[in-house]
Parts: sequence; structure tokens; C-alpha cells
Amino acid sequence: MNTTMEKLTSEELIQLEDKHGAHNYHPLPVVLAKGEGVYVWDVEGKKYFDFLSAYSAVNQGHCHPKIVKAMTDQAQTLTLTSRAFYNDALGPFEKYVTEYFGFDKVLPMNSGAEAVETAIKITRKWAYEKKGIAENEAKIIVCENNFHGRTTTIISFSNDPVASNNFGPYTPGFIRIPYDDVEALEAALQEPNVAGFLVEPIQGEAGVYVPSEGYLTKARELCKANNALFIADEVQTGIARTGSLLAVCGNCSCGSTCEKQETYNEPDILILGKAISGGVYPVSAVLANDDIMGVITPGNHGSTFGGNPIAAKVATAALEVIKDEKLAENAQQLGELFRAEMNRIIANTDLVNAVRGRGLLNAILINDTEESSTAWDLCVALKENGLLAKPTHGNIIRFAPPLVMTKEQLMECVAIIEKTITEFKK
Ligand SMILES: *Cc1c(COP(=O)(O)O)cnc(C)c1O
Repeated sequence: MNTTMEKLTSEELIQLEDKHGAHNYHPLPVVLAKGEGVYVWDVEGKKYFDFLSAYSAVNQGHCHPKIVKAMTDQAQTLTLTSRAFYNDALGPFEKYVTEYFGFDKVLPMNSGAEAVETAIKITRKWAYEKKGIAENEAKIIVCENNFHGRTTTIISFSNDPVASNNFGPYTPGFIRIPYDDVEALEAALQEPNVAGFLVEPIQGEAGVYVPSEGYLTKARELCKANNALFIADEVQTGIARTGSLLAVCGNCSCGSTCEKQETYNEPDILILGKAISGGVYPVSAVLANDDIMGVITPGNHGSTFGGNPIAAKVATAALEVIKDEKLAENAQQLGELFRAEMNRIIANTDLVNAVRGRGLLNAILINDTEESSTAWDLCVALKENGLLAKPTHGNIIRFAPPLVMTKEQLMECVAIIEKTITEFKK
């Protein structure tokens, strides 16, 4: 095969992945070759609206010129020093990101799972050194149907058998309670040796479960009252996706965390990933104040690529775009419109039962069983009509377009969804 000259078809490229790649994903049958803003194009040149945004990594839109420029400029200057030496990009980024989110310190990593692992390590060390929990006894409370990544420790506290079966032995030290259940949290916090509560402000992978009004506020209060750390995994919900800078900001769409804001449920540890780079480079981060982050000393933790100059420049540009283009406000406004339009469509079909979400993180619930292929088949039909989305779990389809979408574009997408649902035959 001539790999340099020949242009392969979608079918051929799918076969290559199937033959040579591990089968750890089951992609929708579309092979993308280009992206710009809210659009992606397949190998044959067909254009689609991206309604997944790489699981909310591409909030700023595909190939945002400002973010791409930050990356290419830095890539031609200095790419990696490791943290054995200082570099001239990391300090300015650390100042920027900590002021942006209102914390004393940041610890930069690469993937979301690494940032979650980092938060777990910080929480445990804090528990032994600050709270006085006996060695190896610390416990972290987590929720049913959580998704925090794929490492051995993280899947140890997942209740998804597909994610965890036959990957044991599992890491101990976690207590799992129902999500959106204040009483369960209150009870779990009474157990001995609790170090913290790790929670997604909205459960994305589980199917966009938005907790009841006041849940996060109450959870944070209970953690405070019991000297346990309130740890927010905003890898998916953060950075303007849900109509506020963070989902823990509550219903404020000012676009930044402001201290005056009454609805802000400040986490003790904030975990970010995905959109912190606008989807152009793997960047993640853990933020906390000095009393907590101070437990980390040289040699405790690190990553060869964490905090590298490209990551620092890319993340700074990506966060600037969020504010410059008022993406939190846009997500808030378009989200309202989207759910109203979905409710209008739902009233006229028995294929879809409900829509839920916040900002531009939404899901529709398909009127069929979890095991049915209806949601998948509907996604294939949406693809044929020019819109890319994927089921999260069985009968739930997540809709999460880039936040740079205009109202006109959103209404085009609503029309595609309406037409697809109307014409769909099980
Ligand atoms: C995607 C995700 C992660 C894991 O991030 P990776 O970059 O895939 O390791 C962790 N937590 C949440 C809530 C996520 O959505």
C-alpha cells in the first residue's frame, strides 16, 4: 500500500482501525478529516454539525485560530523541558489560571484521569497530614454511576461493570453513595476516616443527570461541617459548558467566578481537563488553596509533560477565548432555546420522552430500553442528515455542540433533529 500518495476512503480507514487498533471504542461510522468552529468534515467532504465536541473538550470550536496560533508559535520555540528545569511559559500560565478560577495554586497534568488521580492523592495526603487520619485508613466518598476516567484506581470505584470487570484487584478506600442524595452523603460523612467527597456537578457520562436544586450547596456545607474536602470533577461540566464558567457556579453566567456570587459552591479541590485546551492539546489541572495544595512537596507527584510550555500557552489562549467570546453566556442562552425546542418536538413524538441538561450540556431520553439499538440507530440517522451525536448509555443521547454556535446554526440543528425524529422508523 502506498501510504503517502493514496487517499483512503472512509471504509478503508475504518478497516485499518479495526485491523490494527485495539477495540476499546465503538465509534459511529464516520471518519473525520477536518474541523472548523461548529463543523467537521468527513474524508469524502461531507459536512456535519459536531454535537459531541469531543466530550466537551472543543467548547471553543474546532481549530480555534487563536488557540492554534498559541500552539504553533510555542511549538516552534520550545516544546518540552520537563519540570527538572523552569520554563518561561509555566509561571505566567499558573498565575493566569489561578486568578481566573480563584485559587492559590494549580498542579498541571495532561489527561482528565491524571487530574482525578492527582486530586485523590492530594486528598489522601491532606487527610493524613492535616486531618490526622491514621495511616492507610482514609476514605473518599464517590457517587453511583460516576465517571472520572479509566485508571486502575478510578475504575475501582466505578459501578459500571464494562469499565471495571476483570481489571481487579481494585484500589480500596472509597465509599459509594447514590448521586443527588443529601441524606446518603450525611450518613456517609459520619463513617470514620472520611477525607473527602468526589463529585461531578452534573453527571455527564451517566446521561447528563442534573442534581436537584441546592444539592451541591448542601453537599459543600456538609463536607465543611465534617472537615471533609469537597472535590468537584468539572472535567466535562467546566469551562462554560453548562452556561456558567463552572457548574459549581450555580445559575450565574457572568463568565467568571466572582467572590460576590452567592450561588458559587467553591470546591476545596477543582479538577479541570478537556476544554481547558479547547481540544487542541491534552491539558488538565487541579486547583486548590495553599492549606491543601501545600501537602504536595518535591518528588510526591509529577508528569514529564505536565505543565509543558505548549500546554501552558494553549490553555491560556483557550481560557481567554472563553471570556473574550462570552461563551458561558452563549451556552446559557442557547441552552434555554435548545431545551424549549426539544420540548416542542417531544410533544409531537413518542420516540423521545424528555430532554434535560444545563447550558449546552443536554440529553434526550429515548423511549426504549437501555439494551435497544434505537438511540444508536437514531444517531446513525442524524449522521446521515448532517449532525454527529452519540448515545451515552443505551437509551440516552447527549447533545453538546461547541459553544461558539450561533442562534441561527442552533436552529438549523434543531431542524435536522426534528426531521430525523419525524422520519425515524424503529
Ligand atoms: C472525560 C472525563 C474524565 C477523564 O478525562 P480523560 O481526559 O478522558 O482522562 C474525568 N472526569 C470526567 C467528569 C470526564 O467527563
